[in-house]
Amino acid sequence: MAASKPRPRANKPAPAQPQAADGLEDCSVACTAQGDEIRYEKIPFNSGSEGRLYKIPGSGSLLKLYTTPETWRKSALEAIIVKRAQILGDDPDYWERFFCWPQKVIVQPSLGLIMPQARAEYRPFSHFLLPRFRQRVIQQQGAAAVGSWIGHVGILMKLARAVHRLHRFQVCHSDLSLSNILVDPVRGAVSLIDCDSIVEQGSSILLPTVLGTPDFMAPELVAALGPRKKGPAPQPSVYTDLHAFEVIIYYGLLYRHPLKGGAFHSADSDEDERLTLGAKALYIEHPTQTANRPNTPFLSAAILGPQAQDLFLRAFTDGLRTPERRPSALEWEDALTRMYDQTVPCANPQCDAKAFVFTEYNAGTCPWCGETIKTPNVAPMFGFYSQQEKRKNSYQLDFHMVGWPQRTLRAWHIVPGCLPGPRAPENIYGSLHWQKGDSSTMAWFLKNESIEDLRDITDSRNILQIEPGRMVILREGSQFLIRTQGQERLIKVFMAKTHA
Ligand SMILES: [Zn+2]
Repeated sequence: MAASKPRPRANKPAPAQPQAADGLEDCSVACTAQGDEIRYEKIPFNSGSEGRLYKIPGSGSLLKLYTTPETWRKSALEAIIVKRAQILGDDPDYWERFFCWPQKVIVQPSLGLIMPQARAEYRPFSHFLLPRFRQRVIQQQGAAAVGSWIGHVGILMKLARAVHRLHRFQVCHSDLSLSNILVDPVRGAVSLIDCDSIVEQGSSILLPTVLGTPDFMAPELVAALGPRKKGPAPQPSVYTDLHAFEVIIYYGLLYRHPLKGGAFHSADSDEDERLTLGAKALYIEHPTQTANRPNTPFLSAAILGPQAQDLFLRAFTDGLRTPERRPSALEWEDALTRMYDQTVPCANPQCDAKAFVFTEYNAGTCPWCGETIKTPNVAPMFGFYSQQEKRKNSYQLDFHMVGWPQRTLRAWHIVPGCLPGPRAPENIYGSLHWQKGDSSTMAWFLKNESIEDLRDITDSRNILQIEPGRMVILREGSQFLIRTQGQERLIKVFMAKTHA
């Protein structure tokens, strides 16, 4: 039975400590629960409300020593290390990169843990999204260092995969925030830190130690920061994780907080924030309640396409008060993956975003800089359909993809239900090309790179088998059928003008 824990609190970041000198002569010795000695730098390189972090020279790992080594903490750390094996599963090399997960318990000089240290290029996601940090990174390292908007979409896709992985095992992070996600925007890499505060649903050991970071706390948790109410206090859960994650996605795609608009609730700034994020929380894009619209012009989630727009609407309207209505991390992973496939590059070399989602709403005009696509003058829009319960000739639309030169067809396009991940085949199945056709005019082509059974079924009386290595021209109304792993994938194509 775990000893009782203190009431969870909201997280406040602590200032960084001075840098330690290199060299083993400046090291102290710690001891693991198994009796192994670990040499670590004497001076901590960072500290927080829970403890101090020390570098372990030459190991790529960090040592954390807790300021107050409570008796319950040791059994919690042991349970977290057991959970690690479950989360990494049969693909440890793949999943390990997404989590700075505790690896060993330290018992001397005091209770602590050893965990991997993220590479030097990784920084908190906040440094690339919040204006005050972003400007500093640009001044110090140049504009390329903050990454591009499309790079942030890729990071959020991976983050959705990592959060889904935790939730699949009934584990919530409990403190997802822009500070606890380390990213390398140039490589598109992402890693979750502070995994020693994970909470397991139904566990008597992995209980909450933090409520979260205010900007990312679900309204039901923000309410718990105020005067104590009767009944059990709300606790971090998979649902509160989802709220935090949805705020992070909104920030990552639209560079603003989804609940911080023009509404004003109290002259007391702490009280105003508690009401804005808690009892009076209102989505800035609420379709009918407009009291919290930002006072300055802003880009709506409509620029992201209908799938992401609808998920945000659900997250920040029904989902604000009814946690069970919040979209799951898997729904987000799917939506972000499909959104990535609907982006096209911006023709303006000065555009900060470099890419945008091609939707009916913008008709080929980049919402970030106003530049219009000039070439190609049309783009093939692909609808991917899957067979409904094996009923012949009954298909449902799963998602869209916007064709663009060199865009490829991967397993998550042609295999129904597949998403990128450790088990998805790496193969390139098809590729798209904008080039001169028979009459010397430019046309769109699909090349079958490695699909074993691809048929052009546009004309039902003349079905053509497209062998691997062959190209087929794309026209308005083209239809293809792919048979793979016992499943059928129907693809319908229509041509969209890329500018008026
Ligand atoms: Zn642009």
